[in-house]
Formats: sequence, C-alpha cells, structure tokens
Amino acid sequence: MSSKPRKFKGGVHPNDSKALSETKPVQEAPLLEKYTLIVTQNIGAPPELVVQKGDTVKKGALLAKAGGFVSVPLHSPTSGTVTAVDKCPGPAGVRVPAIEITADEEDEWGSPFEPIADWQNADPDMLRQRVADAGIVGMGGAGFPAHVKLTPPPDKPIDTLLLNGAECEPYLTADHRLMVEQAEDIVRGAAILKRVFGLETAIIGVEDNKPDAIAKLKEIAEPYGIQVQNLRVNYPQGAERQLIYALTGREVPIGGLPMDVGCAVQNVASAAAVTEAVIKGRPSIERIVTVTGEPLVEPGNWRFRIGTPVSKAIELAGGVTVQPAKLLLGGPMMGIAQKSLDVTIMKNTSGILLIPTEQVSQYSSEPCIRCGRCVECCPMRILPATISQAVENERFDLAEELNVLACIECGSCSYVCPSHRPLNQHFKRAKAEIAAKRQKG
Ligand code: SF4
Ligand code: SF4
Repeated sequence: MSSKPRKFKGGVHPNDSKALSETKPVQEAPLLEKYTLIVTQNIGAPPELVVQKGDTVKKGALLAKAGGFVSVPLHSPTSGTVTAVDKCPGPAGVRVPAIEITADEEDEWGSPFEPIADWQNADPDMLRQRVADAGIVGMGGAGFPAHVKLTPPPDKPIDTLLLNGAECEPYLTADHRLMVEQAEDIVRGAAILKRVFGLETAIIGVEDNKPDAIAKLKEIAEPYGIQVQNLRVNYPQGAERQLIYALTGREVPIGGLPMDVGCAVQNVASAAAVTEAVIKGRPSIERIVTVTGEPLVEPGNWRFRIGTPVSKAIELAGGVTVQPAKLLLGGPMMGIAQKSLDVTIMKNTSGILLIPTEQVSQYSSEPCIRCGRCVECCPMRILPATISQAVENERFDLAEELNVLACIECGSCSYVCPSHRPLNQHFKRAKAEIAAKRQKG
C-alpha cells in the first residue's frame, strides 16, 4: 500500500501525552487474592451465570454462558472458589451484577478448549465458533461481540478485513505496546480472521506516531499476505467509519454498518485474543491496560486479569504524587469518569487515566458564537451547534432530524468549542431521550 498516510475528513489534534507510557514495556500484574468480574462485559444480551457461591473453578472455566447471539460468555481469570455472586460498582456509576473469585494461588488452567494447531486448514465455522466460545469482544472500547462481526448476512459479503491499530485516543499506549511486543499474535489473528471470511485482503492501520509498531508489523505481516498501512495522526482515526474511509476510500452510509461497504473491522488486541483462543485454546481472561496520567508516580502498561480493581492498578503504578481531579476508564476524549476505585477492569478497558486538577476545565458554558469550529471538525459531517440548540430547547425530534443518532460521541466538537459548550453531553442526552421515546412507542 501507499506509504503516504491517508486521512478522513474532519478531526482534531489534541496533545497526545503518550510519552508518559509509550516506551514502557508491558509488565505482568501479579496474581491477586480476589477478582471481581462484572457479569456483562459486552454490548448486547447479558450472559447467564452457570456457577454459584461455593463452587470451585479452574482458570479459564466458564462462569457465565452467552445470553443470546449478541452476547459473550465469561471465564474465570484464575483457579479458586466463587466466594460471592452479588453486585459491584459498574463503569456507568451504578452497581451491577458481579462474581467474586477468591484465588487458590495454584493458578491452574482448566480451559475447556483444545488448541486448533492446524488452523490454516480448519473449517471456518469451527474458527468462528471458537471466537464466540472464547468470549472475545471489541477490546478497543466498544465491547461488541467479535463473533457477530464474523457472521454477516448472505447479502452483505465481506471482501476486506481491517485491523484497527490507530489508538488515536491521547494517553493510551496499550495497543502500541501490543503491536511492538506481540506483532506475531496480531498478524496470526488477522490470518485466522481472513480464513473465517475466505479473504485475500487484510489491512492493519496504524497511526504515524508509532513507527516502531509499523516497522515490526510490516516485517511479520508480509509472509501472511497482510498489508500494514500508516495513517495520519488525527483524532478520531480509530472510529470504524473513519478508519474504513482512510484505508479503503469507502464511505459507510449514515445509519449503516461496515458490512454495508464490504468491510469487517476488528481491534488489534481482539486479533491477538483470537490467536490465544484458536492456537493456544485460551479464553479471553486478560488484557493490556495503560495506567497513566501526570498524578501517577510510575505510569506504564500492564497485563491484568479481567476483574482486577482499579485501586490495585493504581497501586502498581506507584500511587499518586498529587490528588487527581478525575479518574477515567479509557482516554480523555471518550473515557468514562469514575466515582469508585473499586470498579474493575473489563475486557474493553484500554486505559485507566488520572487527570490532574490543572487540566480540568475551569470554564463555564457560554452561548454559541457561531464560529463554526465544531462543524469543521465533526468527522460525521453533522451540525453540532444546531443540534445542541435543539437539545437545549428540548426539541429531540429536531435533533433526530438533524442526525444526532449518527454522532459517534468522539468529543471533538466539545474539545474545539471556544464557548465550552457541553456538546457531547447534549448529544448523549438526545440519544437517550430518543431511545426512551422509541421504547415507549
Ligand atoms: S457531533 Fe458527535 S461525531 Fe461530531 S464531533 Fe461532536 S461528538 Fe464527534
Ligand atoms: S464551536 Fe461552539 S461556539 Fe463555535 S459554533 Fe460550535 S457550538 Fe458554537
């Protein structure tokens, strides 16, 4: 492919602050005494518990089975005993169903899967089923079940697989380190996914600010017939529609899906998880997370088991030098603010970010001055200022007409607005009101 980086229309260039952790190799987090796993870690139907308090489990054992096609199973991060089936703080600020595993310190595998060593000749349906059974979701943040994307309807044939290695969110470097340190796992995952679809073309897209990752992937991908394309640094380059446009020139219609333009998109970490599931026979029970922010003593990247409390991750990063103003799960643009340090790492937790007081906006929202900056940067080409006014007037019907549902909540408009208007919050509110109205109807 071209070495000239491609770019989608719109976007912003926030200070990426990746220097805090981008050169820090991934460290293995030590085994904990207890893990608290949030039961629903995916978009779609909640999984159904298959264990109860008092049961003993091996590492990788099934704790909850998928609750439908758009759902994924949940597996034990270590061997031990189920010591509670209760609720714990969830990332959205409310308590959610959870399972507590108390480790027996043996950390003994009891995974129900056999490795599929000859995956090059394996039946594509068998590979697809393995991805479903391993509980793999979109690990870039979306949490969408990976196997669903591998099962398009017959009238939506896929001709191109794209792997998302953009990692455009400031501060986050988990995918960067994965690409440098486990490039082979990512490439083999891409090759397995290619086999599932019977494809010739697969492209890994990586932003230009990770030259070491691009070089490493290129070296390994070539023999597998997989292309590596550098992308111009531009937030939100990692959003599905923007990535597809930058890598293929195809435009996903508003309200449409990647499959409408023949593409399937998976995150690089999800591809590495596919390799673990197929070649090693291991379900999705761990992931790399960036623990970062100026208040931390030692920001870095760690491989954590799912169910590790955020408080433990902060402890591993040496604790804080100053009291942070905010704790986010994810990056500063799309991350979710947290009230509790007891919230635990999920399959889609890419980062834990502490924001210092001086970086939290001290401004209050003022009226729109019609500067047009939000319109210029919106990657979805909608009208943030006009929609925001409709929401302020509680005209959710008008917001819907103006395509608020196409908003990907990237936060670019809020970032550039000189009047510090809470645009993204307005769009989230409008979407919730529209969804509630539809449900009622
Ligand atoms: S309107 Fe939505 S998609 Fe457009 S810049 Fe704002 S948050 Fe991003
Ligand atoms: S960036 Fe802010 S001030 Fe400028 S047009 Fe958009 S909402 Fe109005």
